[in-house]
Amino acid sequence: MVKVLRTVKEIQEFSKAAKDAGKSVGLVPTMGALHEGHLTLMRRARQENDVVIASVFVNPTQFGPNEDFDAYPRRFEEDCKKLETVPVDAVFHPEPKEMYPEGYCTYVNVEGDITKKLCGAQRPGHFRGVATVVTKLMNLSRADRAYFGQKDAQQVVVVKRFVSDLNIPTEVVMVPIVREESGLARSSRNQYLSAEEKEAALVLSRSLQKGKAAFDGGEKGVETLKKIVRDEIGTEPTAVIDYVDIYSFPALLPIAKVEAPALLAIAVKIGKTRLIDNMILGE
Ligand code: AMP
Repeated sequence: MVKVLRTVKEIQEFSKAAKDAGKSVGLVPTMGALHEGHLTLMRRARQENDVVIASVFVNPTQFGPNEDFDAYPRRFEEDCKKLETVPVDAVFHPEPKEMYPEGYCTYVNVEGDITKKLCGAQRPGHFRGVATVVTKLMNLSRADRAYFGQKDAQQVVVVKRFVSDLNIPTEVVMVPIVREESGLARSSRNQYLSAEEKEAALVLSRSLQKGKAAFDGGEKGVETLKKIVRDEIGTEPTAVIDYVDIYSFPALLPIAKVEAPALLAIAVKIGKTRLIDNMILGE
């Protein structure tokens, strides 16, 4: 049985015992509704650390007022069964008021350009919420390593930034995107999709593949590559583009040509569901 830690005191005692015994700690932060993407992060953490702590916390501070905080899938019992298959040693599953009690007023705000583009531009306050909760989780778990998916590539860049800026002694590890056989990137939000929408959502990975194929075929111009991706997304009548962008990776600087690793990132609405996906070109 995976040990369930619900309070700040419980996780602090658990991680102190691990550290006092000289054990390394791996942390995998999630919002639950676990799928193979999450479990791949957990397995990697299992390989590289003596003790693995997962967190399952739908973090209110990273959702905007008109976003899906209330609707976000919560299935903690199923999640625990999945965590046992890894297995992880403990799961931290606090109530929001445990993380943000009465009087709470401290936030981690990454102010550089890296939070002003892509999802940062579309979701004001999102990365402030992410940076705040991840800082707290790193402090609570005393993690030697923390694992994040390339699925949220900008998040990885932002986390690496504040971990470095705030001298947090945790190594940030990025794990590649896990996809369904169809190519669809695994996501807890895929559960919102009807069968037809799931079919329509294949346009995300398909458009990235088209962009990558053009890049591999010699096209280096960012505007041309973006147009190829946009045109492919345009073949799906129900898809609405939030953004199609290319930036250097991991710096996320604007570029005109892809001459070194670059992030091709997209956000697309299928019906009411906003999905993101990306590929790194020129790795
Ligand atoms: P979430 O529960 O959506 O906040 O995701 C928790 C962690 O799992 C984040 O670091 C995500 O980037 C990662 N993750 C989510 N989906 C995938 C995926 N398909 N492949 C790899 N990592 C993922």
